[in-house]
Amino acid sequence: MIIKRDPDIIKCYFEDESGLAGGHAEELLEPENEKDAIDILRDAASKGTPLAISGGGTGVTGARVPFGGSILATDSLNKIINIDEKNLFATLQPGVRLSEFQTELSKKGLAYLPDPTEPNAFLGGTISTNACGAKGFRYGPTRNYIKRLRIALSTGDILDIKRGEFFAKKGEIVSLKSANKKIRIPTYSMPAIKNAAGYYVKDDMDIVDLFIGHEGTLGLILEADVAIGKNLGPIMSFFSFFPSEKDALNFVKEARSRQALSLEYMDVNSLNLLRAKHKNIPPDSKAMIYFEQDYKKESEAKTMDSWTDLLEKYNFDSERSYFADSEKEREKLKEFRHALPETINEIVKRNKLPKVGTDIAVPENAFGEMFEFYKEKLHSSNIDFVIFGHMGENHMHVNLLPKTEAEFAKSRSLYMEFVKKAVSLGGTVSAEHGIGKLKHAFLEAMYGRKALEEMAMLKKSLDPACILGLDNIFSKELLS
Ligand SMILES: Cc1cc2nc3c(=O)[nH]c(=O)nc-3n(C[C@H](O)[C@H](O)[C@H](O)COP(=O)(O)OP(=O)(O)OC[C@H]3O[C@@H](n4cnc5c(N)ncnc54)[C@H](O)[C@@H]3O)c2cc1C
Repeated sequence: MIIKRDPDIIKCYFEDESGLAGGHAEELLEPENEKDAIDILRDAASKGTPLAISGGGTGVTGARVPFGGSILATDSLNKIINIDEKNLFATLQPGVRLSEFQTELSKKGLAYLPDPTEPNAFLGGTISTNACGAKGFRYGPTRNYIKRLRIALSTGDILDIKRGEFFAKKGEIVSLKSANKKIRIPTYSMPAIKNAAGYYVKDDMDIVDLFIGHEGTLGLILEADVAIGKNLGPIMSFFSFFPSEKDALNFVKEARSRQALSLEYMDVNSLNLLRAKHKNIPPDSKAMIYFEQDYKKESEAKTMDSWTDLLEKYNFDSERSYFADSEKEREKLKEFRHALPETINEIVKRNKLPKVGTDIAVPENAFGEMFEFYKEKLHSSNIDFVIFGHMGENHMHVNLLPKTEAEFAKSRSLYMEFVKKAVSLGGTVSAEHGIGKLKHAFLEAMYGRKALEEMAMLKKSLDPACILGLDNIFSKELLS
């Protein structure tokens, strides 16, 4: 076990990409094997020391940020234990970086298809937040790829659960025999759309799903079996600029029924933000759609023509849009896409105010109404903002960029207005980032107080000392 106490060395673990300030901890404990991990958990539980589990630190909700106690860093639990090429699954420790996993898989002609999130995220972090990625339009979230989880509870008990073995109903009291624990499944209802808000609950749910998206509050993920797939073969990527927002939206409306891998949007403010670094964004473009399409060599021209026809129907800028079909070119476009959240996070850090970025998704039939609501409220607020994200999944990130405390307060209240509107339309307050320490009030607006109390009760049954991931998902006050 590695123990570090020098604040200068461990301070990088006091933050994540949310801009949440004030994180602090006494020490960093880094298990090198399962026994170390269990010792750390048992010791902390016996002393009542809070433990913040840390992955790659790319989270955007402050979930790994410690406020006292110790950090349990998973950096050394970083082995790819096995890649089963025949049965298409891999067994990994939680500290494996996604970029390393993809590199290993690609050497064998394989891929982790959901390709969730930031390449620096750790597998454990992505399971704990149920992360999604650019290809989420086709492949969905991390949840769909988890076949087995091995979890250490704060009592030191181990749960090793395979998907398909153990189911439960809402409100049911379930006995987890291997860990000698009884839990009551909460009763709230989750919307049947892309969703990462609160503990997963559903009638006849697989118990594995409870531990996907728990944000470091229920236990330490020690190992996972994840489904993998064959490398996709050739992919064409398009960065298509449109002369009006309406054209871009109409394009997406029609493109949703196609089998693209991704279907993503950037508004004019996003493009303006990127112009400083990327000079070749057309000056008169009002929106950009990024999408990827896999294809068979023999039908390359047909696939290309069919997308070009649709783009032309909606007046895309054929002269100045980009197209990539080689891996190298595609990487450049991916970097460009990634540059936006990175630039936003830099601004947030520079402004020294927490991030005010929504992660709201709504059902498809409500998307137009939600989008209009955003625009009306944002334009009248006079606060800098950008809108971008996974339009194909009716999931936008509205990022407000307040420069003062007063603007920050106004941004938070605008955020609540968005939440209430989305909830009234059957949406979710978090489709992929989770709730962390920044969105408790939004979760309560979505499910109600009773649901949060049920979540707290569930946590207490699995983490009776109440030490793990405190203030993630719901306030720690609910645990007393
Ligand atoms: C530029 C940028 C782009 C992003 N794009 C996306 C995107 O497209 N989609 C998306 O979903 N997210 C996105 N994110 C958010 C972020 O990458 C994800 O939330 C990611 O899953 C966090 O993983 P991590 O390893 O960095 O976790 P951390 O930030 O370290 O931790 C996140 C949570 O996981 C818990 N945790 C970590 N490891 C374990 C473990 N072994 N056991 C139990 N709990 C654990 C922590 O306690 C914490 O609650 C983006 C972030 C950035 C900075």
